[in-house]
Amino acid sequence: ALEELIKNSNLRKNMETITSSKQAIALEDKYGAHNYHPLPVVLSKGEGVFLWDVEGKKYYDFLSAYSAVNQGHCHPRIKDALIEQAGTLTLTSRAFYNDVLGPFEKYITEYFGFDKVLPMNTGAEGVETAIKIARKWGYERKGVAENKAKIIVAENNFHGRTTTIISFSNDANARKNFGPYTDGFIRIPYNDITALKVALKQEDVVAFLVEPIQGEAGVYTPADDYIRQAKAACQEQNVLLIADEIQTGIARTGSLLAVCGNCTCQGHCEKQETYTKPDMLILGKAISGGFYPVSAVLADKDIMDVIKPGQHGSTFGGNPLGVKVAMTALEVVRDEKLAQNARKLGQLFRDRMQKMVDKFPIAKLVRGKGLLNAVVINDSEDSSTAWDICVKLAENGLLAKPTHGNIIRFAPPLVMTEEQLHECCDIIERVIAEFNR
Ligand code: PLP
Repeated sequence: ALEELIKNSNLRKNMETITSSKQAIALEDKYGAHNYHPLPVVLSKGEGVFLWDVEGKKYYDFLSAYSAVNQGHCHPRIKDALIEQAGTLTLTSRAFYNDVLGPFEKYITEYFGFDKVLPMNTGAEGVETAIKIARKWGYERKGVAENKAKIIVAENNFHGRTTTIISFSNDANARKNFGPYTDGFIRIPYNDITALKVALKQEDVVAFLVEPIQGEAGVYTPADDYIRQAKAACQEQNVLLIADEIQTGIARTGSLLAVCGNCTCQGHCEKQETYTKPDMLILGKAISGGFYPVSAVLADKDIMDVIKPGQHGSTFGGNPLGVKVAMTALEVVRDEKLAQNARKLGQLFRDRMQKMVDKFPIAKLVRGKGLLNAVVINDSEDSSTAWDICVKLAENGLLAKPTHGNIIRFAPPLVMTEEQLHECCDIIERVIAEFNR
């Protein structure tokens, strides 16, 4: 009866049924804010590493919703968890306890090796949360004078789109005409320990916020020991190291976290030599396998305990539906050994791409870690070549997107098989060869 009611309701009657890509694009163009510039592909279905458009054309996904669907599209286990929880309890707010949040908090803190977690929804909220905790820790634990706290960030960072976060970005397009900006940030070159050590000597510094690999900037991988050295330098000055692993985390770079270094163990790997434990870890995106926005900040007690009731939160943060999905999505990562697969396939991908780079000068270089990689196109940053290549890739059944100008990021779901990866490399090579002329 309810279905019948919905079918006949005015709302349903007013909702357009999409029958062509052209129609869907026209609707978005007319009624939506133009805050994105998508490739002209309209998707209507996803499964594993594949996507289908409204005309039924099948694609390999090489973006994974900016690394949010590491587990592959519509993973059946996560879907089942979502459906079950959706029919039981979805949202209570934090005005009351619920019976899923506690188990999630235990699960995720043990999974990543921290005492405590603060759940939020989007990545940017996770970053905002970490900034607030770091500042409060600075005033209450480090003794920084009121309103003086400074946080060091890296050039070309990408941490989200809120007013505070764009305040410390150096991307002119992301910032222009959104001022006045939030102060209290020092920007230094990425992958430069000397610059970090100089900045750490300034007064009132409470934290260094950094991406272990800069994804949005174009998959810039720093020196192998950059994060380890950064942590040591921060520790010396009693400054917190905050790792933003929203894009690099959850197996994407071939280990559970990018800060795990080259460790392949599935759990948090405190005992491994290559692991650098950040003071705060920010996660988002793939923590919920693309089903539901969930983000989280993890830290040990002495840091997290600066937050008291009423000082931070969100209506949806820690809701039963989101945390049930997140718990299942994390289980999938571990059970399906996605870090190992990302590591193996990532090496294969870079080997194949390197051969392509050697053969076709239009492709300048390949870089990355695990299945977070980029190919730099040999053309100026403001040329349309990378975009044109992505359009051609789409025509050939592979979806990827330029990050900045002449850089194409390649980040498929981590459930890809070796055979599928080779097929994708064949497509990329074929298209690059065409552009090489
Ligand atoms: N931090 C990093 C490293 C990211 O890559 C992103 C998104 O791309 C964010 C933060 C922001 O996450 P969200 O888009 O969920 O706000």
